[in-house]
Amino acid sequence: MRRPCSSGSCASSGTYSMPLGEICICEELIVYLTSHTSENPRRHFWRCRNFKTPKDCGFFLWDEDVGVQSSGTQRIVDMLRIELEDSKNKLDELKKKLEDTKMKFEDTKMKLEESKNKISKLQRKLDCELRNMKMAFAAILIVVLAWVVSFCFLYGRKM
Ligand SMILES: [Zn+2]
Repeated sequence: MRRPCSSGSCASSGTYSMPLGEICICEELIVYLTSHTSENPRRHFWRCRNFKTPKDCGFFLWDEDVGVQSSGTQRIVDMLRIELEDSKNKLDELKKKLEDTKMKFEDTKMKLEESKNKISKLQRKLDCELRNMKMAFAAILIVVLAWVVSFCFLYGRKM
């Protein structure tokens, strides 16, 4: 901010641009002045440079009000910046969680695939075992039958 009055020593008037984007309606540089009236002695203010002419737009602002306006605007900007930062952080967190969930999903998918493979392997093993058992049972049946037949044959001959 180009202010003629920084700390005590100052020129009482001059032409300056307002730093707040506030422009005189005349779109001309506004004037910085010091009041010397008995109600507002040594009080600084900004005013339309066309004051008391037909072109006067009526712009007037006490210097201390510029500060109030400035800090108010600054506060809003700061708040918005904090909110933006907050939203950014939340977005990053959500992104991380999404990535995490994706990885877990991928992991679960792989485990499911593994389980599927194991189940089909077990199924094949079970089928094989069942076939072996059937063959063993058939062999035992044949042995028993052969034994019964030979027993009957021997017994029949003795009778
Ligand atoms: Zn003006």
